[in-house]
Amino acid sequence: MTDKGFDFTLPETNLHFGSGTLERLGELAKDYGKKALLVTGRSSMRKLGFLEAASRLLADVGITVTLFEGVEPNPSVETVESGMRLGADADLIVAIGGGSAIDAAKAMAVGIGHKADKIWPYIRWEIPITDKTKPIIAIPSTSGTGSHVTWYSVITNRATEEKAAFGIKHIYPKESIVDLDIVKTMPQNVTAETGFDALAHVMESYVSKKASPMTERLCIDAISMIAQNLTKAYTDGSDLEARYNMALADTYAGICITPSRTILVHAMGNVVSGLYPEMPHGRALAALSGPVMRFNIERGDANTVEKYCDITSALGDTSSGVDKEKALKSIELMDGLRKSVGMDHSLADLGMTRDSIEHLADLSLTLGRGAIDCNPVDPSRDDIIKIFEDAM
Ligand code: NDP
Ligand code: MN
Repeated sequence: MTDKGFDFTLPETNLHFGSGTLERLGELAKDYGKKALLVTGRSSMRKLGFLEAASRLLADVGITVTLFEGVEPNPSVETVESGMRLGADADLIVAIGGGSAIDAAKAMAVGIGHKADKIWPYIRWEIPITDKTKPIIAIPSTSGTGSHVTWYSVITNRATEEKAAFGIKHIYPKESIVDLDIVKTMPQNVTAETGFDALAHVMESYVSKKASPMTERLCIDAISMIAQNLTKAYTDGSDLEARYNMALADTYAGICITPSRTILVHAMGNVVSGLYPEMPHGRALAALSGPVMRFNIERGDANTVEKYCDITSALGDTSSGVDKEKALKSIELMDGLRKSVGMDHSLADLGMTRDSIEHLADLSLTLGRGAIDCNPVDPSRDDIIKIFEDAM
């Protein structure tokens, strides 16, 4: 029993979840204005026909659509600013695609709402973000970032090689449409990468210093759902039950990381993608998770060890008892899951070189400060360097 107080934020998002929900886009969008900027990634949504469907559904209710295509993975400041120029007169921003398209759309909504030329000063809190931000509708095509229900957006500044997350209530999507017919089209590599991102979110949020009774149960449920469904969704993409559970776990994860945050894994993973923008976010996290878990278990207090034991159980272990050995088993089980979906690589395998470790450790301590402050053990610069080395 605990009497520890906590803070919790409910997403300000209406969620529409299930097969065929994209059909509701027009009805939902018409309350937010007459002109929409429709934002998507490079090619998948166009090829699969969903971009055209979204465009038609908006046009059918009298909304004028401006298309912005080409958001890249780990979206850049330049991409966001091009969208801001193209959609300068938009009343609402609709994103269809992965977390990158949704995050870029969120930042565009800020820029357009504030009639800004430059977005980085808003991301770095030099200029306040207000309720002038344009409304956002999110239609995720992946099950991993939770961006459709979070108040975060993660944008990369290619000039300074910084990848920074910002979070504020004004960028909660007003409406989120999770259509299983869309997420079931993810190819194997994207299923694995994004599924691992969702797993990292809930494993991190569960042990975060900001975890609370409001998020802990969702985290444990989501960890079990991912343990039981990721391999199924990967092996047979048309397994709708597995897709349903992965999309639900991703949504739980998004609801958890807003108030309870992520920890050292994301602090380090995000700066790695700043320097290596081609590296998929989920793959960087997969390489870093084990070394961070080991660090936290070996150096953490009794409560931290107990929490990692809960993760071990949620990943499928049926033994009883609470000790370091059981806590460490969480790494073994996670590694087994990684292997089963082709994610058992190191940071070196992904192209990271040793000479960037010190610089990345420094960046983690600044850009990743918020997440590091939630880590159950406070890491020194040397600790972070050692964890990077272990992940190589
Ligand atoms: P991306 O949006 O980066 O997409 C990755 C790749 O998958 C792209 O090549 C994309 O192609 C392709 N793709 C996406 N959906 C499909 C589909 N259904 N079928 C075929 N191909 C598809 O991936 P994520 O969703 O993982 O987003 C990652 C980003 O989100 C990172 O920048 C990360 O930092 C951020 N993030 C944001 C969070 C938040 O709360 N806002 C939380 C965690 C991560 P194409 O471009 O052609 O569509
Ligand atoms: Mn993530």
